[in-house]
Order: sequence, then structure tokens, then C-alpha cells
Amino acid sequence: MNVPLLDLVAQYRGIKDELLPAVQAVIESQQFIMGPAVAQLEVEIARLSRARHGIGCASGTDALLLPLKALALAPGDEVITTAFSFFATGGTIHNTGGTPVFVDIDPETFNISPAAAEAALTSRTRALLPVHLFGQMAVLERLLPLAERRGLPVIEDAAQAIGARRRIAGEWRMAGELGWVTGYSFFPSKNLGGWGDGGMMVTSDDALADRLRKLRLHGGAKQYYHDEVGTNSRLDTLQAAVLLAKLPHLAAWSARRREHAAYYSQALADVPQVRAPCIDRANEHIFHQYTLRVERRDALQAHLKSKGIGSAIYYPVPLHLQRCFSHLGYQRGQLPEAERAAGEVLSLPIYPELAPTQLDQVVDAIRGFYR
Ligand SMILES: *Cc1c(COP(=O)(O)O)cnc(C)c1O
Repeated sequence: MNVPLLDLVAQYRGIKDELLPAVQAVIESQQFIMGPAVAQLEVEIARLSRARHGIGCASGTDALLLPLKALALAPGDEVITTAFSFFATGGTIHNTGGTPVFVDIDPETFNISPAAAEAALTSRTRALLPVHLFGQMAVLERLLPLAERRGLPVIEDAAQAIGARRRIAGEWRMAGELGWVTGYSFFPSKNLGGWGDGGMMVTSDDALADRLRKLRLHGGAKQYYHDEVGTNSRLDTLQAAVLLAKLPHLAAWSARRREHAAYYSQALADVPQVRAPCIDRANEHIFHQYTLRVERRDALQAHLKSKGIGSAIYYPVPLHLQRCFSHLGYQRGQLPEAERAAGEVLSLPIYPELAPTQLDQVVDAIRGFYR
């Protein structure tokens, strides 16, 4: 049996009877733009995040772009973020006129290092943009006070962390609860994925919520009256309907991912060439990715492929070394942990519908490779 990196067909087969009527209802109504499912989903995602407002938008990228646009960055304004993330994290800072300041990661969790973020603060810093990478939250209790002391907003990139939580000062805090604004992605491969592109912002700042609602509709609360120049970035009603039908399953799916992760980590614990992902004790991880550090990574990946097992490298080139950011002047060796991670990481299949035999197949293939 093959073990693909992700099997969305398996998920679809299991919940087809819930999804198709929801989609059909939208089709029957023909309300494809800003239909009622959009507002319903906004309420649900805000509730999940313990935030006051949800604002749907066209993608996870736009869920970062619109809040950054709301900051009205001037040339030279800096936004501190991690060097080890999906491209959108850095690209949106650039595209809103800011300068991304990439900092190194904590080698245990792959998340932004609070000490590195602190060291990168300058008089031009306008915001912090931590990413909750692979499904576990960054150390917000250290980043938030840094930002607060300087009056800086924190934008959480929670594209990979919907429903993740972290125990802070003895209390569980959700992704999206504590930042100024948080961006989610509903890209099909995310833990809560639509049938196309989609995203959402959540915030408890009423004024910001109003602003974001306008920015996604060409900058006007009232049609054909424009307070500022926004863009077209709406969440389709069809996507909202799919996501509403999937949302009741999200917690169980994330729990299954955690079980699979525990199984892999246990089964690989005695393989010295492999380091299982480290779960920060304060976090409840949702395992968007299960990411190992391994020796001879590329050869292992080829071996897995030859056995019909999918895997992926998230991410092969850290953001500070991407060619498009060469003008920023970063040197190889400058952010050693992000660079080391880029050379060692390998993500395994972790989707909820994986069968026990498939998990064993992956484990056996890895053990076989190093034997
Ligand atoms: C997926 C992702 C995004 C962008 O989301 P899209 O919906 O693909 O635009 C941003 N940041 C991170 C960390 C992501 O994983």
C-alpha cells in the first residue's frame, strides 16, 4: 500500500454526506459572494480563537497582508519575523512596503527565538510577526511583553495552528486569542482545509475589525463609497459552507494527528539518526506537520519514495537566503539554526485517516534505511 503525504480523498469519503448538502444549499441559493455561511463561519472561528471578530478573506496570505496593510508601513519600517516559515510570512511584509527582519529559531520547536526577536528590535520596528510553525505555538508570553513595552502590535501567523493552545501562567490560551490580530489559512492541505483558497483574520480590536472588513471590500463599508484603497479579498460562500461542515471534526482530527505523532516518536525513539519533533511542554500541538530532523535527509527521502511513501521538506531554503531577499544583505551562516533546520528536516504523513498499517510501513521504511 502506498502512503501519500496527504490523502484528502480519504477525508472526503468519510464526510461526503455532510459536505455535499452544505455545498448544494449554497448552489440552490446562488449567493456565492458574502452569503450567510461566511458570517456563520466568522462567528465560529472567532469563538474557537476566543477572539471577538472573525473576518473572512481570500487566502492565508491575505490574512497577513490585510493587517500589515492596516499598519501603513513606510519605507524602512521593519517587521520582525522568523527565518523559518512558508514564504507568505516574509512576502507579505515586503508587499505591504515593510522590511522583513528575519531572526533565528529555537532549534527544539523550530519557532521564532524570543531572544533573537528581542535582539532585532530597533527604532524602526513596527510589528512582530511570530509563526506557530507546524502546529505548535510560539512563546507568546515572552514575545507579547517585548512588543507591549514598545507599543508594537503582534500579528500571529496561525496558518498551521488553528485550534492549537498554550498554557500561559497556568491558563490555556488559544492561538488567535492574545495577538493583536491572527491570520488563518484554509488552503486544502491545512488542518481545516477548504475546496480551494480561503483565509480568515481574527481580532478582539473592534476598530481593527471594522478596518479589515473594509480593506477586503475595496476599502468601503458601503458599496461604491471608499474610505481608503483596499482590495477584493473575500472568502467564497462555497468555501465557508465546506469549512462549516468540516469544523465540527477539527478537534478529533487534531487528536488523531497527535496520536499518530506519539506513535511515530515512540517507534523511532531508538534510531540515533532520527530526532523526533519536540513538543514544548506548555503547548498542545495540532501537528499540522510531523517534522523529523534526520541524517542523510535527501537519501532517506529518496528511499521513502522508492517504497511508495510520501514526505516533504518544509522548508529547504530559509527566508533570509531566498534570492528575492538578497537585497536585504543576509549572509549564509548568519541564522545558523534556521539554516541547519533547512538541511535536516523531513515531514512525514500525519493526516488523521492514516491506518495503523500505514504508520508501521513508514516506521519500517525509516528503520530499514538506517539499519
Ligand atoms: C499556508 C501558510 C500561509 C499562507 O496561506 P495561503 O492560504 O496558502 O495563502 C502563511 N503562512 C504559513 C505559515 C502557512 O503555512
